[in-house]
Amino acid sequence: MIEQDQLEAQDRSDPLASKRDEFALPEDSVYLDGNSLGCLPIAARERARQVVETQWGHDLIKSWNKHSWIDLPVRIGEKIARLIGAAPGQTICCDSTSVNLFKLLSVALKMQGERCVVLSVQDNFPSDLYMVEGLRQLLGDDRVRLELCAEEAIESAMHDEVAVLMLTQVNFRTGQLLDMRRLTERAHALGILLIWDLAHSAGVLPIELDACHVDFAVGCGYKYLNGGPGAPAFAYVAQRHHAHLHQPISGWMGHASPFEFDAQYRPAANITQLLAGTPPVISMSVLDAALDVFRDVDLSQLRHKASALSELFRALVEQSPHLRDLRLLSPLLPQQRGAQLAYRHPQAYSICQALIAHNIIADFRAPDLLRFGFSPLPLRYVDIGTSVAVLIEIMRSERWREPQYAIRSKVT
Ligand SMILES: *Cc1c(COP(=O)(O)O)cnc(C)c1O
Repeated sequence: MIEQDQLEAQDRSDPLASKRDEFALPEDSVYLDGNSLGCLPIAARERARQVVETQWGHDLIKSWNKHSWIDLPVRIGEKIARLIGAAPGQTICCDSTSVNLFKLLSVALKMQGERCVVLSVQDNFPSDLYMVEGLRQLLGDDRVRLELCAEEAIESAMHDEVAVLMLTQVNFRTGQLLDMRRLTERAHALGILLIWDLAHSAGVLPIELDACHVDFAVGCGYKYLNGGPGAPAFAYVAQRHHAHLHQPISGWMGHASPFEFDAQYRPAANITQLLAGTPPVISMSVLDAALDVFRDVDLSQLRHKASALSELFRALVEQSPHLRDLRLLSPLLPQQRGAQLAYRHPQAYSICQALIAHNIIADFRAPDLLRFGFSPLPLRYVDIGTSVAVLIEIMRSERWREPQYAIRSKVT
């Protein structure tokens, strides 16, 4: 076992250690679920208060200009752009990841003319696949066809009738990290456009959308970006495609001049065309403030710490004779995974509930996965030691067998 003072020494020499102080964290627990819902940045809490009390409460409608509410989608987009390797003018904050995928799938399919296949992987996040299915229902079988392959077989599944390759950079179950540069290059060689979903990678590892010549991307505001429950998502469209941008949810905020109230829809010729309706100002303001946590963060340090935390957890689990029944599903090498680990166990649900009852917050994914996320900014190395110690105790004592841990709630 690694000694407590070794972990404390690691925390003392951690260049990101002070970032933890920028979060409001529950003192009684260790939170290993920042990949599902990020922690609360103190600045976000303050901004929520200010937006509600002063901006909405006092300044009311003047705030659209006075507090630049109208610029939130673009301003937040640019803050996210730094995290995903995007030059200005290509990223915008709006809607949910699912809705943004719907828009970008439509754009990409339209650009591809006769080609109608959307290729993705079997165990992609289901909502991403449902969006393709929705488009198929709308446009018909001759315009949209979904083909699914195994994650290991993406390259061999590409062919010249594929219009769009839709991939999630980090698998939400296993944490497997795909090679964005290589897959994008291979797809482009066959004339395929790429949509990357960054839900489990933005805010936790360096991403190079421009340098990899990615066409389109979407991502999530409430996971590693810490934007709060249901925070709006983001979308990226490479500059070279702006001339072909025709997204179908043609709301007034995506109009070239929304305040002319023209009866004729005239799409904005830039990234703002992706907007549909009025931005959700309160949630966007919270996300805007939350993103400032990343302002002075070096993304390679962020990646390094996330890998070190997950590697420490993995090593401690592997060393314990009481944890032999937990089967690692994630890649063994930290450079091949994002910032999470998944373990298989037939009783994963009860084990997860027992962990939560003992203040180690992890999550369960059906049918038998126990998932741990390692947000590098709020977490310390000592927290990893604590978590594995509790896990060992729960397994050793078989406390997870207590009947209350088998009761299922609506959200897992
Ligand atoms: C979390 C997640 C989403 C979430 O989509 P919403 O529409 O914002 O709820 C989509 N795709 C992936 C891969 C995710 O991990």
